[in-house]
Order: sequence, then structure tokens, then C-alpha cells
Amino acid sequence: MTNISEFKKNAYELIDWIAGYYENIGDYPVKSRVKPKEIYNQLPAGPPLKSEEFDELMKDFRKIIMPGITHWQHPGFFAYFPANTSFPSILGEMLTAALGAQCMKWETSPAAAELEEAMMNWLKQMTGLPASFQGVIQDSASSSTLCAILSARENATNFQVNQNGYVNQKFRVYCSTEAHSSVEKAVKIAGIGSKNLVKLGTDDEFALLPEELDKAIQKDIKEGYLPLCVVAALGTTSSTAVDPLAKIAEITSKYNIWLHVDAAYAGNVLILPEYRWMIQGIEMADSIVFNPHKWMFTNFDCSAYFVKDHDKLVKTFQILPEYLKTGTDGLVNDYSDWGVQLGRRFRALKLWFVLRCFGVENLQQMLRNHISYANFFAGEVQKTGKFELMAPVKFALVCFRYVPDKSMSDDELNAINEKLLQQINSSGKIYLSHTRLKGKFTLRLQAGQTNVQLKHVEEALKLIMELAGGIAQ
Ligand SMILES: *Cc1c(COP(=O)(O)O)cnc(C)c1O
Repeated sequence: MTNISEFKKNAYELIDWIAGYYENIGDYPVKSRVKPKEIYNQLPAGPPLKSEEFDELMKDFRKIIMPGITHWQHPGFFAYFPANTSFPSILGEMLTAALGAQCMKWETSPAAAELEEAMMNWLKQMTGLPASFQGVIQDSASSSTLCAILSARENATNFQVNQNGYVNQKFRVYCSTEAHSSVEKAVKIAGIGSKNLVKLGTDDEFALLPEELDKAIQKDIKEGYLPLCVVAALGTTSSTAVDPLAKIAEITSKYNIWLHVDAAYAGNVLILPEYRWMIQGIEMADSIVFNPHKWMFTNFDCSAYFVKDHDKLVKTFQILPEYLKTGTDGLVNDYSDWGVQLGRRFRALKLWFVLRCFGVENLQQMLRNHISYANFFAGEVQKTGKFELMAPVKFALVCFRYVPDKSMSDDELNAINEKLLQQINSSGKIYLSHTRLKGKFTLRLQAGQTNVQLKHVEEALKLIMELAGGIAQ
């Protein structure tokens, strides 16, 4: 496995395998059907002592691993949010693996740092984020939100917690009840304590109520708490609700609180000018994250994190032991100082490939297509009179449930919809996920897969109707 001619032979074969995979991806059951331990039990208990043939390895990959894969790039993948990839992204990622560069500091690969800087600037232009913000690629929105909360903590304490640890501080962080679980995780990791995460109520469309935020902050200040950070969601995970950013920003400005914007999924749609209303007030925010690895055809991981004041971010994370000192410290972007990781993958490369190979106009068209498919689906299920929408369709996600009989109780409907979801997913043809909205079991269908076309959504619709009809009997 170390000689070039063998590498070439294996690599060409692998490319053929990948191309074949994409040609036939629709034939796989989209959701893996294996039982727990089914894969593990097929693997030897220990590693081989002697070298094995690559062909044998590939045989086992096909036989053992593939059945345990859920096919996120399958056009019938309508679950969660997408984690879509594309051929340019795959090719960029291959080069990243080939270079094998560890891009912690500028010096450890100047091109990685400078391409990352350029790509974050391109994304700012594409999405209409303020030109004065600065961006960095993180592994995930969860990590980005952790960076935001740690920066907020240091900002509010003049970098004292970093220095002295906690000294009787009583901190508070705010978000809506619909915010992503990564906010609570970050609050726990940051040592703030999940009981100090204040979850605020939402309106009929699941968006944070700014009046509640203002009241909660006032009450906390009176009781001796220090409000650190508000996390506003643009596109919540359950139902893609959009918190009213401008109103929230007024409040955070009034009390001088860090405002972090979690736009993990929906931030991508800012490449469409008609969605820029969502970021009205963004210049008053301190940080925002969105994931090209969700809905911009760039394979996981690639999370774009932007901050208004990068000095605060760097001051929160920078650490400079002798062995990491270089001649360019302070003159260039050393991205290991912009987050938790020291070692960093060259992630900007695949994003560059994606942006150049598609071009902004094609990316815009693809998102517009996805949004139109979701609206088509929502319209069709409503026409039947047997389904109801559980939240407005803002992007490419439809939240709905089957209501065969309007006199049924929510408990009965929850049971029916749970059963329907099981049947849908065991069909192998499509994969949906669920949530609960106001306690109601809700089916979620997102149409953001790279290769999804209207015909796939029509097929999904037909299948869902058929299965629903069968349940009602
Ligand atoms: C998906 C999602 C996240 C988590 O994203 P990761 O990159 O997987 O950490 C956070 N917030 C929202 C709103 C999301 O939809």
C-alpha cells in the first residue's frame, strides 16, 4: 500500500466505485436497516498483523459497511436537515486528504489560512453579512456556539474567568424554548450551568418573544445575575422559525449583552437576496454561524462562524507556548487561536471548489428549487384535506401531520403519525424525521438534498398518501 503504482490502481478503482454509487444511489434503502451490533459483530476483534489486500478490504467495505450506511445523498433523504455534498466538494476533500496538511498556524500552510480568509470573505459577500465581520471555519455549529458563549463570558468579565476561574459569578444565557440543544450543551461545557440557561416562550410561529426576553433580563439583573449572551435562532431545528433579530438586537444593545445568531441551516439561504430581511439588525450582533455543510453542497464538516470583533475571539482562545511561536505571530491569521481546536483540517479547499465549480447563480437556483419543492409538497398535502401544516413553510422544510378525522384527539393523532412515520421509513424509499410542536407529533420533510428533483418529491407524496390511507383503514 505504499507504492505509487498500487495507489494509482486502487484510486482509479475507488473513483469507479464512487461514480457507480452515485449512479445507483436511489436503489439503496435510504435509511440503514441494521440492528445494533450487527456491524460490530462482523468485524474481527483485533487488527491484522500482516498487510491485507486492498481488494479484500473493499469487499468487506461493500459487504459489512454499506448495509450500515444511511444514505444522506439519496434523493429520498428528507430527514433532519440535509448534510449535502457534491462532486466538487468530494474532489476538494480528496485533495485535502492527499495533502494531509495540519493547518493550525499560518506557517504550517499559508495557503490554507489565506484561502480560508478569502472564502469567508466570499461568503460574507454572498450572504450580505457586514463587510466588517471576520470569519473562520469551525467544525460545527455546536463548536461555533460554544466559541460565542465563551467569548461572551470573557467579554462580560474582562477576560477574568479565563484567568481566575469562576468566583461567585451568577451568569445567565437566553434563548427560546425552540433553540437548538447545542446552546444548552455549550452552557454546560462553559461551566455556566444549564439551570442558568433561560428558555423563553415563543409566538404562534415558534419565534422568540422579545418582550419575554426583556422582562427576563430585567428580573435577572434585579436578582444579581450577570446576563452574558442571547442566542437568536434564524431557522430553528424543529420548524425553521425565525426569531425577530432586529428587536432582539435592540434589547441586547440596551443591556450590552453579547448577541449570537444561530443560523446553522437557514443562513445558507441568505445567498438569496429575498431572504435578507432575516438579518435586519445583524450589525448589532456579535457573532453568527451557518453551516455550508448543511445546505451549500459542501461535505461535512464546514461551519462558517463570523464575529464582529475578532480580537475578542482571539483573546478568548489564544495561547502561545514556546513550541507554537512563529516569526509571523500577530501579522497573519493563525486560526488555531480562533476556536477550540489546535490542529485544523484544510476545510476551505472544498468550499473553494464548490463556489467555483457551481458559481453563485447555480447555488441560488438550487436553493430556489428546493424551496419550491417544499412549497409544492405543502400545497399538495393541504389539498387533500387530510393533512395539516404544523408551521409555516419558510425555507425547504415542511412540518405536517396526518389528520384522517378531525374529531380525533391529539393523543390519537400522535399515535397515528408515529406509526405512519415508522411505515414511511421502513419502506426504504424515503426517509423523514419528526419533532414535537406544542406537544404534537409532527412529521418533517426537508427537500434540500443535492440531487433531489420535483419527481422525487412527487414520489414521496404518493407514498406518504398511500401509507396514510392504509393506516386509516
Ligand atoms: C443543525 C443545527 C445545529 C447543529 O449543527 P452542527 O454543525 O451539527 O453542530 C445547531 N443549530 C441549529 C439551528 C441547527 O439546525
